Amino acid sequence: MTALRRTTKIRGAPMRPLDLQTICDKCGYSRAHGNHDKCSKARQAEMAELRAREKQS
Ligand SMILES: [Zn+2]
Repeated sequence: MTALRRTTKIRGAPMRPLDLQTICDKCGYSRAHGNHDKCSKARQAEMAELRAREKQS
């Protein structure tokens, strides 16, 4: 059953493990402080854009 064991890959590179970062990758501040609504929205928009591009090419 090794064929069923596949690591999720994005464009040939193994996907990072889902990391619960303490530091926001958008604004660089601790995610426990401040409002990161915009950051998460920006992240989602980026992901949507990436997916849209992948569909096109
Ligand atoms: Zn943030």
